[in-house]
Amino acid sequence: MVSKHAVLRTAIPAELREWVDNRLINAHVRIVRIMVVGCLLNAAAICLALAGEVENWLLGLFACMIVMASLHRLWLAEGIARGRRQRRSAKIMNAYALSSLWLGLTMGIACALFFAQVSHGDQLLLATSGVAQIAAAAYTMRTLVRSAVIFIAAQASGLIIGLAQLGEFDELAAIVVVLVASGLLIRMTFMARDLFVTRILSDRELAATTRTVKLLLNEYQESGSDWLFELDSQRRIVGACKRFASAAGQPAEQLEGTEFLSLFAADGARSALSSAIVERRPIRSVIVALGNPVEGEARWWSISGRPCHLGEGVVYRGVISDITERRHAEHRAQHMAHFDTLTGLPNRTLFDSGLESLVSTRKRGEHIALLLLDVDHFKSINDMHGHPVGDAFLCALGQRLTDCVQTSGLGGSHPLIARLGGDEFAIVVSGDDAPDHAVRLAGCLLAAMADPFQIDRYELHSGASIGIALAPFHAGSKEQLVSYADMALHAAKQRGRGDWEMFEPDMDAQLHERHALARDLRHAVARGELRLFLQPLVDASSEARTGYEALLRCQHPERGLVSPDRFIPIAEETGLIVPIGEWVIRTALHEAARWQDGETIAINLSPVQIQSAGLLQLVVSALAESGVAPGRVEFEITESVLLENSQANLDVLKRLQSLGVKIALDDFGTGHASLNYLLTFPFDKIKIDRSFVSDLATREESRAIVGAVIALANQLGMCTLAEGVEERVQLEQLRHDGCRMVQGWLFGKALPSEDYHPRMATPAKRRKPAQTQTYSARKRA
Ligand code: C2E
Ligand code: CA
Ligand code: CA
Repeated sequence: MVSKHAVLRTAIPAELREWVDNRLINAHVRIVRIMVVGCLLNAAAICLALAGEVENWLLGLFACMIVMASLHRLWLAEGIARGRRQRRSAKIMNAYALSSLWLGLTMGIACALFFAQVSHGDQLLLATSGVAQIAAAAYTMRTLVRSAVIFIAAQASGLIIGLAQLGEFDELAAIVVVLVASGLLIRMTFMARDLFVTRILSDRELAATTRTVKLLLNEYQESGSDWLFELDSQRRIVGACKRFASAAGQPAEQLEGTEFLSLFAADGARSALSSAIVERRPIRSVIVALGNPVEGEARWWSISGRPCHLGEGVVYRGVISDITERRHAEHRAQHMAHFDTLTGLPNRTLFDSGLESLVSTRKRGEHIALLLLDVDHFKSINDMHGHPVGDAFLCALGQRLTDCVQTSGLGGSHPLIARLGGDEFAIVVSGDDAPDHAVRLAGCLLAAMADPFQIDRYELHSGASIGIALAPFHAGSKEQLVSYADMALHAAKQRGRGDWEMFEPDMDAQLHERHALARDLRHAVARGELRLFLQPLVDASSEARTGYEALLRCQHPERGLVSPDRFIPIAEETGLIVPIGEWVIRTALHEAARWQDGETIAINLSPVQIQSAGLLQLVVSALAESGVAPGRVEFEITESVLLENSQANLDVLKRLQSLGVKIALDDFGTGHASLNYLLTFPFDKIKIDRSFVSDLATREESRAIVGAVIALANQLGMCTLAEGVEERVQLEQLRHDGCRMVQGWLFGKALPSEDYHPRMATPAKRRKPAQTQTYSARKRA
């Protein structure tokens, strides 16, 4: 038996075979009526022609068989057409093959039986009708090749048998003709079936592709952020989709035929778009702004397109994306990259580029002044009131600086105000008289800072230090200008804060010197370059020595003896004060352990040390190692300790006091000079700064302050010590005011400890055991 799809079987995917078979059956079903009619007419012609020559019952049987076979075939087809037959295609094809066998055999047997019995003319009719039937079957059954082959084979066999019965040479030739014709027709049937299958498969593929494209386009047009557009030769919109209309904020009908370019704001981008479209050039992501806001919002589109020659009149096609959101996000990101989120002022990045361009494009005769402003003790605001208050303070400060700059009469120049980070701000002014303006502005800014800030329920008092540098007077480059302003700011802070300082050339030298000193300090402990000097502390009334203050020196191989005023600030800034301070504490206690009569030792502590984690541990271990009674030890701290990180610092002070050591407030009156500080912590001693003592004799005001401090301290049960007593009159006055202790050159300068406590040849023998010292000290206490 011939295979269903002898040629194409492998080319048809397995999942499509059933579908292809059904298509083949349907194609046959569509022409089955014509085939049946042809068959019946043929049979009728044969019956009419052979009546009288062939026995009637045979003709009747033939007609009956043909009618029944035809009805059966019609019935099959009707069933399929009306969907009654839901059977599998293989079964239907078998049914058709059976029907073809029936018809073919009926026709074939008729030919074989009747041929010898009829006249020569009717033989011709039988042969002609047989061949016609074969040709008709090849055509009408071309999609059901098995049926066609069966029919043709049966019919041709009958015809050949009929012809063979005549036994003549002509009939032999006719047999060959029938055989060849049948073979060719069968071959044609296969080819036609294959063509049909190929066509329906490619149709199916095309339909699928079309469906996908349609789906994608719909999706693109209606749900995406992009849409397609088409323009005619007059650059008018053709076939605007819904997305296009809603993005343009106009109904689609109104948009239809509108001049495309009229949608956009008249600017450079629109001109570029216009010339590209006019000149029919392709464009890629040209960004244009819409001329009218949509729903009250400015909008941007990105347009790509190219000329085309498809369709009637369409000459330009492309895609539009609404990039408004993206643009807003870009703007936000840009803003965040260049502006400080807290104050809204330009940040360091924008400041850097702004200053750079100002300096590089500076005209002849033009000056640039850079003011760097740093808030004094900002950290204490954060520590005392929390970060939200600190943030609000910085916001208010930023506003105050802006107001101040705007109202300071800087006229034409556009000052740049920036927050460089933390509590550091920068202001740049430029113009012919920028140096003068900068100085006026600095005064203005400091005056503005003097007013308290009302943040929530807090009234915050603050101050600032300002450093100024000028270009081109001081510096030629941006980097140099910033560095010089920074040095000036540093100098302003060094000179007591709350003021401005203009850069001076020797600040640069000082800075180099500071860097060199910092480098050397790093090795000072290891190289044994530190020296501890002592200065006596004296009882004001008896003038008896009660103890010493330990004062540090650095014995530098080249610089000689370096004073602490020079290196302590550097050590504090670099953190080196922690190891240096540890050396001081251990050495001072070791030294005090040698003294016989329980004299006290006062040790200076910097804020950095108090904030360092290991201080308490260090004090405990140094006390234990030296055996010095805690009551003989006094730590001197300055007011800044109370300002910075105050609560944590106060805790450390309390824990030190709980060890039994004493805490003294040093340099009282120099910092914020507030009597309030005396109430913040139960100090054991107040050290009145030298500056008050030095003009005790000359300034009434100093006398009043010193008197008040002594009175208050006495009331609070705190001991008072006046520093820098150089003259007897000062001592007399202090005694009169009730000051309990004094210190100063009148009683002894800071000298190497050997000068006050010479080491004996065999000090170990003379030294009292540590316990005895501690005991005697405790007894005295
Ligand atoms: P200070 O704690 O106020 O020390 C007193 C300073 O005044 C000492 O300067 C002392 O030599 C000086 N002085 C004392 N009596 C007189 C006087 O009658 N007239 C004059 N004109 N000056 C007098 P020195 O030793 O140069 O110390 C300066 C500062 O260095 C100290 O001020 C202290 O703040 C700091 N310092 C010294 N040693 C240390 C230390 O070991 N650790 C820390 N953190 N700071 C230290
Ligand atoms: Ca001191
Ligand atoms: Ca002091």
